[in-house]
Amino acid sequence: MAVNYIYPEQEVVRNYDRCISCRACERQCANEAHSYIEAEDKVVSDDSRCVSCHRCVSICPTRALKIVPTDHAFRKNASWSKTNIYEVY
Ligand code: SF4
Ligand code: SF4
Repeated sequence: MAVNYIYPEQEVVRNYDRCISCRACERQCANEAHSYIEAEDKVVSDDSRCVSCHRCVSICPTRALKIVPTDHAFRKNASWSKTNIYEVY
């Protein structure tokens, strides 16, 4: 798969104080956005794979997940719009 340099529009936020590493989100995401690191007993996410369907959010037993719009932003500039900058990417 080609590398995508565009910063994702949304981020998968996991509250590790609530996450019990049950891996339900990993099993349920059709886009394989979640993965399990066995050595750390930790579930992590790849934001670039998420399409904001909220399936993982709805089945998480501890409400550890949320999908949020990214606050990643470019400095305002009349010539360099977000679209123009992404074309340079
Ligand atoms: S479903 Fe919720 S509790 Fe289970 S691994 Fe995913 S984020 Fe953690
Ligand atoms: S919101 Fe949907 S696409 Fe995004 S990580 Fe959760 S299940 Fe996967």
